[in-house]
Amino acid sequence: MLEVSAALDLILQQTAPLAAQRLPVAKTLGQVLAEDVAADVDSPPHDKAMMDGVAVAAGDLGQADAELQVLETITAGDTPQTALEPGACVRIMTGAPIPPGTAAVVMREQVAELPNGRVRVALTNTTAGKHIMRRGASMHCGEVILPRGTCLRPLEVGLLSEVGRAQVMVVGRPQVAVLATGNELVPADEQPSPGMIRNTNGPMLLAAATAAGAAPHDLGIGRDDREQLAERIAEGLQRDILLLSGGVSAGVLDLVPGVLQQLGVRQVFHKVRLKPGKPLWFGVSQHAEGQTLVFGLPGNPVSALVCFRLFVQPALQRLAGQAVASESKPLEMLRLSEPYEHSSERSVYWPARRRGTMVELLAWHGSADLRHFSAADCLAVLPAGERRYSQGELVEVLDLG
Ligand code: AMP
Ligand code: MG
Repeated sequence: MLEVSAALDLILQQTAPLAAQRLPVAKTLGQVLAEDVAADVDSPPHDKAMMDGVAVAAGDLGQADAELQVLETITAGDTPQTALEPGACVRIMTGAPIPPGTAAVVMREQVAELPNGRVRVALTNTTAGKHIMRRGASMHCGEVILPRGTCLRPLEVGLLSEVGRAQVMVVGRPQVAVLATGNELVPADEQPSPGMIRNTNGPMLLAAATAAGAAPHDLGIGRDDREQLAERIAEGLQRDILLLSGGVSAGVLDLVPGVLQQLGVRQVFHKVRLKPGKPLWFGVSQHAEGQTLVFGLPGNPVSALVCFRLFVQPALQRLAGQAVASESKPLEMLRLSEPYEHSSERSVYWPARRRGTMVELLAWHGSADLRHFSAADCLAVLPAGERRYSQGELVEVLDLG
C-alpha cells in the first residue's frame, strides 16, 4: 500500500496549471496572474497634498507662524491656477495637486482664520516636503508592479484597477464536480427514514472546494447502481476534478472503482497507508478537452475531509498555478499537551487543537464522528508504528484552515 507522500507525488505528477484566460478583474479573486502587469500611469499622477489644510511656500518656513494671503481653494480633481510666492498660500484638500512653489502642506488644525481672506498658520513643526506625496512615489509608468505568478487578493484587485486593468490574464479557476454515492443517503432537507442518513459529504466537499478557490458543481446523490453511477460520473468527467464519496471500500455495493474503469478512467492508485482515509481511489480520465482528476474519497465524512486536505487541496493549488504548500514549506512542529500511547500500521492524522505552543489530541469516535472532529483546527501527524509519546514531545501538525 502507498504511503501518503508517495500517493501525493503520484497525484501531483498528473497535475499541471490550467490554461490562462482573460477575465474581468472583479472575478479573479484567489486566482494567479498569468502575465506581468505594468503601471500605465505614475502614481500619484501629480505631487499631491496628503492633508486638508494650506499649501505654503519655502520662503515662509522656519518661522513660528506666518500671516498669509489665501489665493485659491484646490480640491481633489482641480488643477492649481496660481503659483505660490512667499506671503501667500492656497487652501488645499487631500489628494489635490499642489501648486508650483509649494514647500509643504500644513494641516487645517494649525490654521486660524483672519479677516480679508488671510490666515495665521502655525509653522513650528513644518519642514520642507511635509504632507506632500511626490509624483510617482508609489509607482512609475512602465514599471512592473505585479509579476506573473502573483496570487490575487483584494489588495491586488485594487492595484490592477489603479493601473487601468479592467481585465487580466489569470490561470483558470479549477472546476470541481462533487457526487456523493450511497443508497442510504437523503438530502439535508429530508427526514431520514429507518436505515437512512443525510448526505454530509456532498455539501461539505462543495464547501471545501469553494474554500480552496475552486468553482463547485453539485452532482447530487448517486445511488449504488452501475448505470446511474456511470451517467452521473460521465457528467462529472467534464470538469477538471471529480470528487466522489463512498463506494470505494470492500463492500458488496462499493461499485465506484469498477464503474470508473468501465468509463475509461485510468486508475493510478487505490488505498493509502493512512488513517483515516485508507480506501482512497485516484485516477485520471483523458478526453478531447483535456483531463479530469478523479478522487474516489472514502464515505465516512472525517475520512473524506482528511483526504481532501491531504490530496485534493494540493492538486487544486497546482491546477490553479499556486505553489503547493507541502512542497514549499515544512510542516509546523508543536509540543504534545499530554502523553500518548500510539500503535498503528498506518500513518495517523489525528484531529487536534492548538493550545498556545502546545497541541492537544482530541477525543473522537473515529471516521464517522464529524461532530467531535469539528473542534479540531489541525491534524497531528503520528507516523506508523508503536511509540510512546511523552508530554512536551514535538509532533508535526497540518493546518485545517
Ligand atoms: P461506503 O464506503 O460507501 O461504504 O461508506 C462508508 C460509510 O460512510 C458508510 O457508513 C456510509 O453510510 C457513510 N457515508 C457514505 N457517504 C456518505 C455521505 N455522503 N454522507 C455521510 N455519510 C456517508
Ligand atoms: Mg456506500
